[in-house]
Amino acid sequence: METRRIVDILRNAQPDESVTIQGWVRTKRALKEFSFMEVNDGSFMANLQVVLNPDLPDYENILKQLNTGASVEVSGILAPSPGKGQRIELKASKVKVYGDANPETYPLQKKRHSFEFLRTIGHLRSRTNTLGAVFRVRNACAHAIHQFFQERGFLWVHTPIITANDCEGAGELFCVTNLNLKEIPQTEAGEIDYSQDFFGRKAYLTVSGQLQAEVMAMTFRDVYTFGPTFRAENSNTSRHLAEFWMVEPEMAFCDLSGDMDLAEEFLKYIFKSVLEKCPEDMEFFNKRIDDSVLATADNIINNEFERVTYTEAIALLEKAKRKFEYPVSWGLDLQSEHERYLAEELFKKPVIVTDYPVEIKAFYMRLNEDEKTVRAMDVLAPKIGEIIGGSQREERLDILEQRLQAQGMNPEELWWYLDLRRYGTVPHAGFGLGFERLVQFMTGMGNIRDVIPFPRAPLSAEF
Ligand code: ATP
Ligand code: MN
Repeated sequence: METRRIVDILRNAQPDESVTIQGWVRTKRALKEFSFMEVNDGSFMANLQVVLNPDLPDYENILKQLNTGASVEVSGILAPSPGKGQRIELKASKVKVYGDANPETYPLQKKRHSFEFLRTIGHLRSRTNTLGAVFRVRNACAHAIHQFFQERGFLWVHTPIITANDCEGAGELFCVTNLNLKEIPQTEAGEIDYSQDFFGRKAYLTVSGQLQAEVMAMTFRDVYTFGPTFRAENSNTSRHLAEFWMVEPEMAFCDLSGDMDLAEEFLKYIFKSVLEKCPEDMEFFNKRIDDSVLATADNIINNEFERVTYTEAIALLEKAKRKFEYPVSWGLDLQSEHERYLAEELFKKPVIVTDYPVEIKAFYMRLNEDEKTVRAMDVLAPKIGEIIGGSQREERLDILEQRLQAQGMNPEELWWYLDLRRYGTVPHAGFGLGFERLVQFMTGMGNIRDVIPFPRAPLSAEF
C-alpha cells in the first residue's frame, strides 16, 4: 500500500480508510488494555494518534521499542477519535520499527528545551514542534517567492557564489583561496601573490548577486536571484548570519517608485500565501512564540506601507520623546533602534525610507538632483528593522565612474559593469531581501539562527 503523509490524513481522510504511514514516534503511552503513540512525519504540526491493541503481532516486544525518536511504519484503519484534540486516529494492524532510539541517551525529551540547547543538537532539533514549523514556513516562503516572480514573468537567474568583486564595498568578505597557507607566495613588495592563486586573482564568497543580476536585467528586463550570500559579520546579533539567503529582483525600465511598489506587493503576496499554506504553523507561532504574529501578518496584507524620505525620518526621530543609544543627525546611518522606533512605535506598520545621504550608501545607487542624496529605499519592519534594501541604480556612466572613484574603488576592475552603461543603458532598479529576516519576521522567532536549518555564525559551523 502506498504510504500517505500525515498532513493529508489529518486534513482529508475519512474513517474506515486503510492507510500506511511512516514517521518518528513523538510519545507513547502504555495503558493496561491497550497503548497509544503519536507519530510525526514532518508534514504537519500535529501528530497522528495511533492505537495499539494487544492483538497486534509481537505486541509486547514492539511496544518496548516504540520510544520517542524511533522510526516506524504503521498500517491500519482510520477511525473517529473519541479523545479530544484530534478528529481521526489510526487503529494499527501492523507496526514495523525501522530504528529504535534509546530513551537513556536520546536528547529530545518531552520537556521544553531552550533554543540555545537545541542549537547544540542541530541534527535533531528539526524534530521539535517549533523548528519543524519554522522549516515548513521557510519552505512555503521560498515557494511563494518563486511563484510571485514567475507569475510576473521574471527570469530566475543564477549568479555566482565565488566572485572577484566586493559589491557592497563593506569589507565583510570571506576570501576564497587554495594557496598553501604554510607557504604563501609573496610578491616582490612582500604582499600575498594572488596571481598564483586558483583564479589568478583575489576571490571572495559573494555578498550579493546584484551586479550580475544587473547584467541579466539588461537582456531579460525583469530577473531575480535567490541564493546564498556570505558576510564575515563579526557581530553576534540575533539578526546576522555569516551565510544567509538573499532574494534580489532587478528590473530594467524601472525607477524607485516602481521598485517600492514591487517590494510592497511582494511582501503582501508572501504573507498571504504562507498564511494560506501553513495556517496551523502560523497559529502555533502566534500562540507559543509571539502573540503579535497573526496581527502583524494582517497588518502587512491589509495596510499600505508608510513612505517617508530619510530627511523626514531624521526630523521624526529628532522629535521623538525618547532617548536613543546612538545619536540621530542628518548624515548618520539609521541604527536598528531608530528603524524599530519608526516601524514599531511611530507608524506601527512597515515603513519605506527613501533618499539616503550619498555618503552612507553604495556606489551604484542613483544620485539625486540635489547631489546630496541617492535613490535608495529601505523597508523597515516592526521588530526586525531593515528587511529590504534597494535602490534605483546609477545608469549614467560619467556619474557612476565618479562615485566609484569617490569611494576609493577601481573602475577598471568593474569594466564589465560599466560597459552596461556604455551599451544600451536604461533606468533600472532592484532590491535585496534577507530571506531569513523575512522568515523571522513572519514567525516571530527571536534569533535568526533558529530560522535556518544549519546556521553559520562566528565560531559556529558544526553541523
Ligand atoms: P544591516 O544593517 O542589518 O546589517 P545591511 O545594510 O548590511 O543590513 P544590505 O547590504 O542592504 O544589508 O543587504 C540586503 C538585505 O540582506 C538586508 O536588508 C537584510 O535583510 C539582509 N542581511 C544583511 N546582512 C545580513 C546578515 N548578516 N544575515 C542575514 N541577513 C542579512
Ligand atoms: Mn550589515
